[in-house]
Amino acid sequence: MKSSNFRIVPLATEIAETARQTAASGAPDHAMVVANSPNGFPCRHCLRYAQLGEHMILFPYAAIPAGHPYFEIGPTFVHAEPCGRYRATDEFPADFRAGRVMRAYNSNYDMIDAEVGNGSAPEAIIEKLLQKPETAFVDARSVTHGCYTFRIQRL
Ligand SMILES: [Zn+2]
Repeated sequence: MKSSNFRIVPLATEIAETARQTAASGAPDHAMVVANSPNGFPCRHCLRYAQLGEHMILFPYAAIPAGHPYFEIGPTFVHAEPCGRYRATDEFPADFRAGRVMRAYNSNYDMIDAEVGNGSAPEAIIEKLLQKPETAFVDARSVTHGCYTFRIQRL
């Protein structure tokens, strides 16, 4: 049995659905793209990399909401076709064990720490960041592109 003290929070299904509808309506900030590399198109809803040839929607998502100094809006992929929201919320998603930075935020959405998992298990980094009492949540982001991947909350 896993005994993690965190919960993985994928993108809400409503947000993925809205992105699909907005893309279908032709909104210029919702691009339809075809995955043409194996590890370049992470779906923030099912938390897997797209297979080659899968259609993805690229749209802007505010992981940190407006009204805060760390307000941040950035490009996010979801599958163009409906996909299942990631369910193994007590397990770090296997596709994203490498290439992520973990950023800790307080309850005012201020970034208070960040750490790249250079070879160490992401669970150990999450554990360490969640040990700080002021940590409200941790965001996993792409090291290279900075894109928001998913949120991690305390159980
Ligand atoms: Zn997906």
